[in-house]
Amino acid sequence: MKRILLLGGTGDALALARALPAGHVYSLAGLGRVPDDLACTVRVGGFGGIDGLCAYLRDAGIALVVDATHPYAAQMSRHARAACDSTGVPLWAVRRPAWPAQSGDDWRFVHDWHGIVAGIAGFGRPLFTLGREPLAHLDEIPASQYWTVRCLEAHAGNARARIIDARGPFTLDGERALFDAARIDVVISKHSGGRATEAKLTVARERGLPVIMLARPELPAADRRFDTVADALDALGLQLSSTA
Ligand code: NAP
Repeated sequence: MKRILLLGGTGDALALARALPAGHVYSLAGLGRVPDDLACTVRVGGFGGIDGLCAYLRDAGIALVVDATHPYAAQMSRHARAACDSTGVPLWAVRRPAWPAQSGDDWRFVHDWHGIVAGIAGFGRPLFTLGREPLAHLDEIPASQYWTVRCLEAHAGNARARIIDARGPFTLDGERALFDAARIDVVISKHSGGRATEAKLTVARERGLPVIMLARPELPAADRRFDTVADALDALGLQLSSTA
């Protein structure tokens, strides 16, 4: 059997992993939940850079890599491209489209943490929804701000910050309630795309609030690219039936 290595860590990847029969491999970095109900093998932890991934591909007899990592997991995607080039293994990728801006959106694109800090200057009640990066900056919060930070990790807040550990999908009503309770006046987001976390953008639009949007990193080209899980599932089904 030609083995598939699926690089995951997203809801899209998990949907693909559920379609993989025994013998194929679903790989996770180890930051989040590890599913225990899959037919395929689940492996957890980094490969040890490009060389480690090359060795893994050879040792495990991998014939196809499917990169379904998060659009901001750029290092893993670059490593996958380099390792596939060096071993001759084809690389497919599921690249979820970013959200399109709509009428009424006030999105302000920035490229790094400094851009975020500059973008929220002048606002008092930011809602951070871009993962754990703000946790490293809780001691730098200016006296004029109170941060609400939502991320997957439980973490202590302080006098100027509340940390909410929560995992999407988030509903419109839930987001409206959060914006009300925390008196949010600006949102910080990755340009992730997908349904699970888009409700905050709708609420920001409804209220005329700006969104400081961290721009997507550059990702390498793949040999086949899919916008949706459904397309990738179709193609994987063909691949599985033609190589099993
Ligand atoms: P990253 O910066 O691109 O990767 C850092 C290192 O983590 C990689 O070099 C690799 O270690 C290891 N790694 C990443 N994904 C892996 C996988 N699927 N299997 C095995 N090792 C993996 O990634 P990140 O932004 O820290 O994200 C880590 C994981 O969380 C990814 O799986 C991603 O899909 C998921 N995730 C990320 C975000 C986000 O916003 N960044 C959001 C939701 C989920 P080695 O070099 O040792 O191989």
